[in-house]
Amino acid sequence: MNVELVSIGDELLLGYTIDTNAAFFAREAAALGIRVVRRATIGDSADDIAAAVREALDRTGAVITSGGLGPTADDLTKPSIAALFGRGMCLDESIVAAMHARWKARGWPGELPAANRAQAMIPEGATILMNAHGSAPGIWLEDAGGRWVAMLPGVPREFRGMTGDTLLPRIRARGATGTVVRSLTLRTTGIAESAVADALGPLAKALDGVSLAYLPGWAGVDLRLTVRDVPPEVASALLAAAAAAVRDRVARWVYGVDEADLSVLVLEALRARSMHIAVAESCTGGMLGMRLTAVPGSSDVVHGGVIAYDDAVKVRDLGVPESTIAAHGAVSEATARAMASGVRTRMGVDVGVSITGVAGPGGGTTEKPVGTFCVGVDVRGEVCSLRTSGVGDRHEIRQRATQAALSLVRKALGD
Ligand code: AMP
Ligand code: MG
Repeated sequence: MNVELVSIGDELLLGYTIDTNAAFFAREAAALGIRVVRRATIGDSADDIAAAVREALDRTGAVITSGGLGPTADDLTKPSIAALFGRGMCLDESIVAAMHARWKARGWPGELPAANRAQAMIPEGATILMNAHGSAPGIWLEDAGGRWVAMLPGVPREFRGMTGDTLLPRIRARGATGTVVRSLTLRTTGIAESAVADALGPLAKALDGVSLAYLPGWAGVDLRLTVRDVPPEVASALLAAAAAAVRDRVARWVYGVDEADLSVLVLEALRARSMHIAVAESCTGGMLGMRLTAVPGSSDVVHGGVIAYDDAVKVRDLGVPESTIAAHGAVSEATARAMASGVRTRMGVDVGVSITGVAGPGGGTTEKPVGTFCVGVDVRGEVCSLRTSGVGDRHEIRQRATQAALSLVRKALGD
C-alpha cells in the first residue's frame, strides 16, 4: 500500500526542527509493507495545508499528517482538512471529559484552560484516534470513496507512540498485502565510496530484486540493501543472498551490520582476550575515550588515557622522544607509535592506542594538509600504525580519526 506524509509546522520549514516524525514513520511502515511514496513539508497556513493534502489525496488516497493539532492559533490542521472534506467542526464532549480527567489526575492547578477545548473540536463524521501519550487526540477522516487522512500530533513522543498503538494497525487492517519492504546494512570503514563501487563492480547490477545504496559518512561507507513488496520469508532470503555476495567482495572492510558500532566490537574483542586498553589522544582531545566509555560495561576493559594535545605532554606524560617529534613532526606515524607504546607501558595495560593529526581548519601544510592523521596501536609490544586523511569539517575529521584508530585496534588483534 502507498501512502503520503504531510509534515506541518513553520519550525520545520525554517530548519529549526528536523522532521524526525517522517523518518520514523517511513522506517516503521516499511517493515509492514506500507510504502511512503512522497513527503511534503508545509507551514502553519490553512490554505497550504489544504492544498498539500488535496494533491496527496488525488495521488494516493492515503495521507498521514503530523503536527498542527495543538490548542493554539497556529494549529490549523483539523479545520483546514475538514473544509477539504466539506465537513464542519463540532465539539466532542468525551474528549473534553478525558482532557479534564487528565488535567486533574496530574494534579495541575485550576481548571482545564479554555484553549484546550479547541483540541476537542473534531471534524463531523471523524473517528477519534486515542492518544495515550498526550492530550491532543488524533483524527481519522474518510470520504465516501474510501480516501482517508490520518492526523497525528507533531510532538515526537506522541507521534511515535500513536503510530505504533493505533495508526499502523489500522492502516494494515485496511490494506494488508502480506508483503514488506526490508533493508540490511553492511557497514564498511577504511575504504572510499568510489573504491567500494569498483570492488563491487558489475555485481551491484546483478543483485536479484535487491537495490543497493552507498551511504558514506564519518564512520565509513554503509551499503544498504533493500527489497520491496515481497513476502517476509522471500525478503529475508533475498537479503541474505545479496549480503553474502557483497560481503564476498569487500569482506576486508566490513565490520558489521545495521547498527554495529566499532567501539562495541573493540571492547568485545578485548574482553574476549581479557585485555585492557589505554588511549593517548592529541587532535581528538578525548573523543576516542568518550566513544569507548559511552558503551555500558566498558570499565572492565578501559583503563584510562592521556590527552596529549601539546607536544610537551607527549614528551612528559607519554615518553615520546623529543628527537622523534623533531625528526618526523607531531603528526607522524613515528610519533603515533611512540604515543601508543608510551600510554601502554606507563598505564601497565595490554593495548595502547593513539591518535595525532591536523583537524583544521588551520594548521595544514602541503606535506600534511588538514585532515591528515596518524593512528598507532601497541599490543603487548607489537606496534603498528597508519597514516591517512579524512575530509569534512573539524568535528567530522576527528570522528573519522577515532574510527580509524578503533579499526586498527581490531586489525592488530587479528579480528
Ligand atoms: P505541534 O503538534 O505542531 O504543536 O508540534 C509540537 C512540537 O512537536 C513542536 O515543538 C515541534 O517542534 C515538534 N514537531 C512538530 N512536527 C515535528 C516533526 N515532523 N518532527 C519532529 N518534531 C516535530
Ligand atoms: Mg505546530
